Amino acid sequence: MILTTVFDTKPYDRDQLQRASAGLDIEWRFMDCRLSAETAAAAHGSNAVCTFVNDRPDRPCLEALAKLGVKHVALRCAGFNSIDLPAAKELGFSVTRVPAYSPYAVAEHAVALLLALNRKIPRANNRVHDLNFALNGLVGFDLHGKTAGILGTGKIGRIAAQILRGFGMRVLAFDPFPSPEWAQQYQVEYTDPRTIASESEVISLHTPLTPETHHIIRRETLELVKPGTILINVSRGALIDTKALIEALKSGRLGGVALDVYEEEEGVFFEDLSGQILHDDDLARLLTFPNVLITAHQAFLTQEALAEIARVTTANLTAYAKGQPFLPETVLS
Ligand code: NAD
Repeated sequence: MILTTVFDTKPYDRDQLQRASAGLDIEWRFMDCRLSAETAAAAHGSNAVCTFVNDRPDRPCLEALAKLGVKHVALRCAGFNSIDLPAAKELGFSVTRVPAYSPYAVAEHAVALLLALNRKIPRANNRVHDLNFALNGLVGFDLHGKTAGILGTGKIGRIAAQILRGFGMRVLAFDPFPSPEWAQQYQVEYTDPRTIASESEVISLHTPLTPETHHIIRRETLELVKPGTILINVSRGALIDTKALIEALKSGRLGGVALDVYEEEEGVFFEDLSGQILHDDDLARLLTFPNVLITAHQAFLTQEALAEIARVTTANLTAYAKGQPFLPETVLS
């Protein structure tokens, strides 16, 4: 029996992990709190911990876990910017992640945000529920014939590009590791980030967060974009310099911004803070713009994705318990 402490859990995580582990030798200890050096003690007696995007397995936290005898960290997400991998290696942890639970879920959410923002669906819906059937201020634009720029053509970026091609958009893309055959098949044009910034009516970010991609969208980038451009980020908040974004929104240059992730989302996204004071002034400012649409990191939230996250996580924990190899492409350390 392997005891795994699962941090930052919600009912939908618990439900899927319990289903996926039925009949297996895994015991779960579900925690509401996020993992950090301060909360690591909650993993006492565990062989493994399971973490999500806003947990903080940094060096001090990993040192605390190592002292408790924890040996494995199972990330139940694709992005691994949260964990200090060199520290994990040094301390002898094995680390796995779920590299692709449903790229469709995330790409489809990016497109859902684009359509909702461009056609002003949330505003329109609010109006009709107030018996206001006027259309003033709800004018959008046809996506057909417009140009979309995709930064990062990995699993999610490629699907987003394909969906946008289906709308009849011209799709430009940048990736340091391009996929020329895929681009030819879907008539996607690889180009440089500057051209994407200056020629696209829609820009969608699909890169991981790394030191190279941190603030990939900043003041200089935003100065290049066409007036009225829509920016979509379903990847990681810190790809965008929030202060520069707010300045660009205030200037009226951007047509709209849709975010499923936010630079300072930790401790805010995934939580019900209704009735409380919002202490983040940048987030508060973003929420005042009529052309900003925000969801709280829910792009992954489909039944298929949750089931796949639970399947891969339990398979790797079972492999760890039996000393067997982890699933291919899930191993980080
Ligand atoms: P992936 O590894 O398949 O693709 C990432 C692509 O980005 C790769 O092709 C890589 O070469 C490219 N890239 C790296 N640096 C770049 C740069 N400087 N400019 C342009 N491209 C660059 O990853 P994926 O499965 O497509 O996921 C992408 C990201 O989406 C993840 O890293 C994660 O942060 C995010 N994500 C968000 C959610 C959510 O719920 N909002 C869910 C899953 C993943």
